[in-house]
Amino acid sequence: MSCCKSKAGSGLPSIPRQLKDVAIAMADSLAHFAVTGKLAADRAVITNRIAACEACEQFTGTRCRECGCYVHAKAALAASVCPLGRW
Ligand code: SF4
Repeated sequence: MSCCKSKAGSGLPSIPRQLKDVAIAMADSLAHFAVTGKLAADRAVITNRIAACEACEQFTGTRCRECGCYVHAKAALAASVCPLGRW
């Protein structure tokens, strides 16, 4: 859908795209929790994810331009994945 590909002036995805991504992330996290009983990622995993984000050109300092997520919150969820496959 073309509306979901556009980016706002901030360089972040459109609001509909961000809402869709949050809904998918919540569903993925709940499914992961149902199977593993675990919602949060391990501390070492979070640290490695954040390090990858900090080295990424899509990182704004708080958010990811690719998905619009707040990186520290995204990295803390066990089921999260980087939209560019970097973690
Ligand atoms: S989630 Fe992926 S694309 Fe987004 S800032 Fe982190 S490494 Fe970059």
